[in-house]
Amino acid sequence: MIQRNSCPNFNHGRANVPVRACPMCGEVVNGAIPIKNCSEEEHAKRRKDRNKYCIDCGKQLIEGI
Ligand SMILES: [Zn+2]
Ligand SMILES: [Zn+2]
Repeated sequence: MIQRNSCPNFNHGRANVPVRACPMCGEVVNGAIPIKNCSEEEHAKRRKDRNKYCIDCGKQLIEGI
């Protein structure tokens, strides 16, 4: 289970978030946005941005943090 209210990311609590999932906890913050079929390249880019989770599909990118 993902703990609620423990994530400091600004995407939580906003009305119209432009991303599907939170990059820090992976929780869906805007379910109205369809899941994107990301390529490995895109995920590699997001890893460089130090996103733990993909904001487009919610997949965990970095393990063990
Ligand atoms: Zn979060
Ligand atoms: Zn993705």
